[in-house]
Amino acid sequence: MTDDESSFKPISGNVMPRFSGIATFMRLRHLLEPDGVEIGLIGVPWDGGTTNRAGARHGPRQIRDMSTMMRNVHHVSRIMPFDLCRCADLGDVPVNPIDLEDTLGRVERFYAKVHGAGTVPLTAGGDHLVTLPIMRALAKDRPVGMVHFDAHTDTWDRYFGDHFYTHGTPFRRAVEEGLLDPKRTVQIGIRGALYGGADNDWGEAQGIRVITIDEFYEMGVDNVIAEARRIVGDGATYVSFDVDGLDPVYAPGTGTPEIGGFTTFEAQRMVRGLQGLDLIGGDVVEVAPPFDPSGNTAIVGATMMFEILCVLADAVARRRAG
Ligand code: MN
Ligand code: MN
Repeated sequence: MTDDESSFKPISGNVMPRFSGIATFMRLRHLLEPDGVEIGLIGVPWDGGTTNRAGARHGPRQIRDMSTMMRNVHHVSRIMPFDLCRCADLGDVPVNPIDLEDTLGRVERFYAKVHGAGTVPLTAGGDHLVTLPIMRALAKDRPVGMVHFDAHTDTWDRYFGDHFYTHGTPFRRAVEEGLLDPKRTVQIGIRGALYGGADNDWGEAQGIRVITIDEFYEMGVDNVIAEARRIVGDGATYVSFDVDGLDPVYAPGTGTPEIGGFTTFEAQRMVRGLQGLDLIGGDVVEVAPPFDPSGNTAIVGATMMFEILCVLADAVARRRAG
């Protein structure tokens, strides 16, 4: 790489110790413009879609801090994302903390610019509603598939009557708007008591494959990976990782914890199993630092971002090679 290329790689811990300097995602350079960046790491510090325990607005800042622990080479796949692709921290979306609809527009415009520059986004939320305006930018021209890790389907319809937009509704809206192909969508880890017995029926009626946590453990990780790959196929696919899909012993810092989830190791294995798919973006959402003063949930979030970054970088490099 040339000197110029080095500006798209993390600063070395031998140049500046990992605990020092201004925290950016994975110690990458903070750039204000996406031009020339192949993978942009972006924060959306917003939890205006949260219906109960807010706090995910603080996620990006603590994930940046904890992401200074990430290194350069994936220890299993040997993928070196920063050698494969030009990466940068593109900063936070300038959200409006008191106006939901305004924020949806701000997020969509930010990602439209990123997408227009040919940059693949990897996001730290924020609550799960942030994925909807991201999809409005990325999937404007055709619906995408999705591998979705979560305790919840997030395909509910409304809240308090007329309110269509919450962190429980993004994928209902995304299917309705033609952004998400339900037949190429798989949701993994679903559990938790429902408001009503028919809550998950809508998604399944659209063709979404819902793998409950019980089915996950009956199938085993390898079969779940095979099923996810079969469902999304070789089309453009987004990866969305809600940390509440994990058991709350691993990720207590989240707004809607549900006991009986998958482990961090199982989550890592599943994301690694997505290598080779046509991945066009990803996110880690619902890290809410106020509920985990230890910071461990943010370490988990940062590490899952690194796992997604590795398979994303592999996909970007494959597309570049044609
Ligand atoms: Mn969710
Ligand atoms: Mn959830």
